[in-house]
Amino acid sequence: MARGAVAPALISSPEDIIEFLIEDASPVDPNAPKPVMERHIHSEIYKRFSGINSVVHSHSPAVLPYAISNVPLKAAIHMAGFLGEEVPVFDISQYYNHNDTRDLLVTNVRLGAALAAKFSADSSQITALPDHSIVLMRSHGFAGCAADIKTVVYQALYTQHNAQVQSDALNLEHAHGGSKDDILYLTPQEARDSYATIGQNLERPWSLWVREVEVSPLYVNSVSL
Ligand SMILES: [Zn+2]
Repeated sequence: MARGAVAPALISSPEDIIEFLIEDASPVDPNAPKPVMERHIHSEIYKRFSGINSVVHSHSPAVLPYAISNVPLKAAIHMAGFLGEEVPVFDISQYYNHNDTRDLLVTNVRLGAALAAKFSADSSQITALPDHSIVLMRSHGFAGCAADIKTVVYQALYTQHNAQVQSDALNLEHAHGGSKDDILYLTPQEARDSYATIGQNLERPWSLWVREVEVSPLYVNSVSL
C-alpha cells in the first residue's frame, strides 16, 4: 500500500509502497515510514478469504447516500450484476469498544475483522471467496474485493456508476409522481447471468483504464520498465 504520507494516486516509485503482514497489518520492514491508517481493511479481508488477492476501499460521493440512508443499493444496470441481491452495510458503531475513538476509521484488527465478516452471508462460515463483492461502510464509503485487480477495479467503478444511475432514476421517478417501487432493478437471475458474461470480458475496459493512467499528467511512474 502507499506509505501514509502519499495519496495512493501519487505513488511514483517503489519507495512509496510499504508491504504489510496479513496477520496484524504491521509493516514487514519495522523501519518503514508511517503506514496508512486503514490498512486493516485490506489485511482482514485477505485473512478471511484465501481466494481474494485484491481489495479496494473508496469514499465515492456517488455511493455514500446509500451508506447513510435506508435506501438499499441494488443492482440496477447490466454492468453491475456483481452487486447481487443485496449489498450489506457495515455500521462500525456496532463494533466499538467503550474506549474506542469514534472516527469511523477501520484502524485495528477487531474492526477490520468485523468489516470482513460482512462479506459473508453467514459470518460464522469461512469460505475461500466472499458471498458479497461490495460492502458499504456507514458514513464512510465502501470496500470491495475480488480474486484479481482487474475485477476489483471494474467492480469499484461500476458500483459508482450503478449508484449514480439508481439515484438519478429515483429522483426522476419521484419528480414524475411515481414511487420507488416503479424502479426496475435486475432480477437475481439477471444479476447472476450478466455478471457471468461481463466478468469474463474485462480486458477491453481494463486496457482503457490503463491508458487513461498512462496519459494523465496526474500519475507519474519513475520505475524503468
Ligand atoms: Zn476510508
